[in-house]
Amino acid sequence: MLDLAIIGGGPAGLTAGLYATRGGLNNVVMFEMGMPGGQITGSSEIENYPGQGPVMSGMDLMASWPEQCQKFGLKHEMAEISKVEKIGDNFKLVTSDNKEFEARSVLIATGSVPRRAGFKGENEFFGRGVSTCATCDGFFYRGKEVAVIGGGDSALEEAYYLSKMCKKVYLVHRRDTYRAAPSTIAHVKNTENIEEVTNVSVEEVFGDASGVLGLRVKCNKTGEVRELPTPGVFVFVGRNVLNAPLKQADGTFLCNMSENGEVIVDLKMRTNVKGLYAAGDIRIDAAKQVVCAAADGATAAVDIIEYLG
Ligand code: NAP
Repeated sequence: MLDLAIIGGGPAGLTAGLYATRGGLNNVVMFEMGMPGGQITGSSEIENYPGQGPVMSGMDLMASWPEQCQKFGLKHEMAEISKVEKIGDNFKLVTSDNKEFEARSVLIATGSVPRRAGFKGENEFFGRGVSTCATCDGFFYRGKEVAVIGGGDSALEEAYYLSKMCKKVYLVHRRDTYRAAPSTIAHVKNTENIEEVTNVSVEEVFGDASGVLGLRVKCNKTGEVRELPTPGVFVFVGRNVLNAPLKQADGTFLCNMSENGEVIVDLKMRTNVKGLYAAGDIRIDAAKQVVCAAADGATAAVDIIEYLG
């Protein structure tokens, strides 16, 4: 019987593992099917993790985290958890290759992945001009023109954020109405250097070996094609939360979830199910920053130690 099963090996899962083991739990396993580190390891340059020193890649930032955790006894199981069930006071975890584990408590820290829009060049130039994180990458386009794709809260909020550092932001949306909050829409409409490019389909992001050179869009009404000269293209077309392990046989979830499929937690990262916690991007209202995910993991672990007595 595990004291704690951590699902996901990103900043939230690793930090929970560190705090749980260092805080005295003996049998803590982190289930991560790939290399620990999480989605941040895909970012080329990080400069906003407090105390990190020089700019570094996500891979470099996360490199020392697993070893630090292992030093205190965190075990890493290279497995994908496909299902978590509540059995009495405990939990049963089933891996995708049908191995079973039992745990007294579970922390789900599987995160979420930004959705791809599916236009030509998006994958080819991802990380070389195409980005899904304005906080991480906006700085590289200071004084330059960028495009933001999407019409939801994320796209409009990030367009506004980018407008403060970029020369111009093209807000590219497939319809002419947004699904963002009215106040956010008002911000965008009142910002001089945001140009709304609506009712268009993105045809292609084009570039060369140096990176992205621009974006080609086609008007849905007239068919007119326009090229936007943007070295930076930010895609905010929604996120997919990785909540599948919480799905039960009858199609419901093990704990309360938001409409967007995020886990509802309280300030201690507790779900409505005793012993089940969530941390990082998978939880409601996540700021989607490494430092916040790590803080969630620590918060959860501190409460889990108390919960297990
Ligand atoms: P979202 O609300 O799902 O919006 C995604 C946007 O991308 C939509 O405008 C959609 O167009 C567009 N889109 C989807 N697929 C596309 C494609 N293949 N090509 C081009 N455009 C595409 O996603 P989100 O903005 O990430 O927000 C997710 C949730 O978090 C929402 O509930 C949002 O309210 C919430 N959120 C809240 C805040 C806040 O409260 N401050 C901040 C961020 C996010 P259509 O409109 O035509 O469908």
